Amino acid sequence: LFTLLTALKYKAPKQEPKLVETIHGITSEHIGSLLNQDNLILCYQPKVDISSQSIVGFEALSRLCIQGDGFIYPDRFIPLINKAGLNCQFSQLVLDQAMTQWELCPQLQKFSLSVNISAEDLLSEDFINYVIDKKSQQPNIHLILELTESQQTIDQDMALRSIAKLIINDITISLDDFGKSYSTFDRLDNIPFDEIKIDKDFISDLDINPKHLAIVESTIALAKKLKVKVVAEGVETLSVLNLLKGLGCEIAQGYYFSPPIEGRYVTSWVDSYSQQ
Ligand code: C2E
Ligand code: MG
Ligand code: MG
Ligand code: MG
Repeated sequence: LFTLLTALKYKAPKQEPKLVETIHGITSEHIGSLLNQDNLILCYQPKVDISSQSIVGFEALSRLCIQGDGFIYPDRFIPLINKAGLNCQFSQLVLDQAMTQWELCPQLQKFSLSVNISAEDLLSEDFINYVIDKKSQQPNIHLILELTESQQTIDQDMALRSIAKLIINDITISLDDFGKSYSTFDRLDNIPFDEIKIDKDFISDLDINPKHLAIVESTIALAKKLKVKVVAEGVETLSVLNLLKGLGCEIAQGYYFSPPIEGRYVTSWVDSYSQQ
């Protein structure tokens, strides 16, 4: 019976299945009509504490699923959403779905929940109030907003005011894709963030690329000096994980642990991970 149960356990694939994108000719003009809860599929990727190997949180990653047509990945649809000026509307949709999932699965509430937003979202007072309202309705959820660099220059004072408001309301700010390019804010010491995520481009080949190793080493040292958490994304191998551990990196995320997992499988993944 034990063997049978083990065999039935949800096995996380080593890589996210590459679903064929068959959607043709989607433009920013009709992306808006695709933005609804039925089409939004959130996948969650675990963040793991390197020294204890325990799960500390999950990051929600969006996919758009069009009935009978397949999945579209964010690198393809986020620019369209941007172009259509629908950033905030989309971020609200993601936040709603992710927070609902956490609300419905008490087992997940001990893990932080990270949601990606665009820097432009910080310029909308309505959006900021929406997030704060959501958080006050579910105060037990440790909500982290991962901030991705904006393509346009944005009003920094306004963005910083929004960040301050979020922090007062117990929401954590994370700087995503750190090291890749961060010119949204001209001075790093201006942003009161709590976490940085080193971009996966520097991490995946850490063990064979001495330049990347140097960048990652100094980023981890910087994070320690600034007393902020540091997350390495894109960890694919044990050799990279061991290097990061040696450098004093605290948290890792990547295919080595798991690809992003569809919402409906997350709790069973947690169960099987904990039994390992
Ligand atoms: P990100 O937030 O930096 O997320 C990391 C990306 O790396 C994700 O791609 C993830 O699936 C992928 N990844 C994770 N582990 C590994 C690994 O070990 N190796 C490799 N090669 N890749 C790995 P994804 O899901 O395609 O998302 C791409 C980007 O799109 C995200 O980068 C984020 O900036 C943006 N994004 C995703 N979902 C949302 C969303 O709901 N809202 C917003 N505004 N942006 C989103
Ligand atoms: Mg992210
Ligand atoms: Mg990133
Ligand atoms: Mg990225």
